[in-house]
Amino acid sequence: MPSESSLHCQVLVVGAGPAGGDLARRLASQGVDVVLVDRLADLNRSAFSSAALPIASMQAFGLPAEVVGSRWRQWQLIGPGSATRTWASLQPLGVVLDFGALRCWQADQCLRWGGQVRLGLQACSSHQEGERMVTLLRRADGTTLRVSSDWTVDASGQARALLGDPPPAQRPRDGLVRAAGLEWLLRVSPTCWEGWADRLSFCLGSDWVPQGYGWIFPMQPGVLKLGVCRLVDPEREQPPLGGLIMELGRRLLAGEAFKVLDRHGGLVRSTIRRREPHQRGRLVGLGDAVSTANLLGGEGIRHALTSSAVLAPLLQQAQAASGGSAAAPQALRDYGPQLRRALGWRWSLSGRLARRTWLSLHEAKADGRLDQVLRGLEGCRAEDLSALLFGYRFERYGLRAMPYLLGWR
Ligand SMILES: Cc1cc2nc3c(=O)[nH]c(=O)nc-3n(C[C@H](O)[C@H](O)[C@H](O)COP(=O)(O)OP(=O)(O)OC[C@H]3O[C@@H](n4cnc5c(N)ncnc54)[C@H](O)[C@@H]3O)c2cc1C
Repeated sequence: MPSESSLHCQVLVVGAGPAGGDLARRLASQGVDVVLVDRLADLNRSAFSSAALPIASMQAFGLPAEVVGSRWRQWQLIGPGSATRTWASLQPLGVVLDFGALRCWQADQCLRWGGQVRLGLQACSSHQEGERMVTLLRRADGTTLRVSSDWTVDASGQARALLGDPPPAQRPRDGLVRAAGLEWLLRVSPTCWEGWADRLSFCLGSDWVPQGYGWIFPMQPGVLKLGVCRLVDPEREQPPLGGLIMELGRRLLAGEAFKVLDRHGGLVRSTIRRREPHQRGRLVGLGDAVSTANLLGGEGIRHALTSSAVLAPLLQQAQAASGGSAAAPQALRDYGPQLRRALGWRWSLSGRLARRTWLSLHEAKADGRLDQVLRGLEGCRAEDLSALLFGYRFERYGLRAMPYLLGWR
């Protein structure tokens, strides 16, 4: 059967990650004629994100139990050096999502609400013709699909496939900051898994991962996620992530005959101030494509979901009020400011702290500073640590920790 070569819809969403999948399901549930596309042929593949979230996000974003890999109720910080600190709560503090299952669930919701999902389609270009967007998508066999839509949403993540990178920053520190991550999904023995279950474990300090951090997160029983992430520093030669993750496995899982089930990874690229354009006419950016990922913990899922919660009603209003009229793009002028408000000033502060903290973490002096910060946190509760690391509530401890974090001492 020949594949179709053109399609019409109200909203085309390019990218079925957390941002695009969530927007598509929200719009479809409101009766909008939406088409969700992704270059992946199977949304379970390339599940690159370690996907740790605070527990409150499950309810806040209406996520179901079926997308949860495991729950956790402890923080464990290993390093700098040989120090290991744990903070435990009696209640679950968060979840580790099955990232593939999340994307599949969102796409399925979009379908159930009457939207369309087309996989294995790579968006190549998009331009405005009158009051319509025309987007060209290519299949693996080289054939193309031309989609005509009232709106096209670039939810292609840090790739920014349609919007492109933000214009060069006037000040270098306002440009894109990049972090590179690598993760292995491991099958381990039940005894080994027990030792890492129930907790998020991070390895901190330059002897673990210079200018970054390592982690072990539990997934389903018998499965762990082992990962490394670090900020890209053009000024410094950095050791390859492959060697760092092997070393992490050797040190943390000594004597365990683990089996690597999957290897994946990716980039997180965000501007710290998020001043880039969020829209070009009827092309709108969402999630990582407009820098919602925060570099402090390489964390972006809930911020990507926030961006779709902000955009969905605006897009619907714009569509209802002015549909195909030339005034329609004006209706989204509040999107950028509303999203900035929803992310909050702490988001931006934590991005700045992230750059400073991770980039400086390549020598003993910085390890010592970090150790002092962690020592200052020893007396706090696990819930407080969550408020610090997920809520970016630095000022609660800050008076002691902030000067170190900011590099003033
Ligand atoms: C190693 C690693 C670990 C991470 N761990 C965490 C964590 O623990 N917690 C957390 O909250 N965040 C984490 N993140 C960040 C988080 O995964 C992202 O911020 C989040 O996935 C962003 O969602 P998004 O929908 O904006 O973009 P993405 O999830 O990147 O989705 C974009 C989608 O667009 C598709 N696409 C790209 N280009 C095209 C194209 N041209 N045509 C069609 N489709 C296209 C891609 O296939 C992809 O499915 C991690 C990231 C990495 C790299």
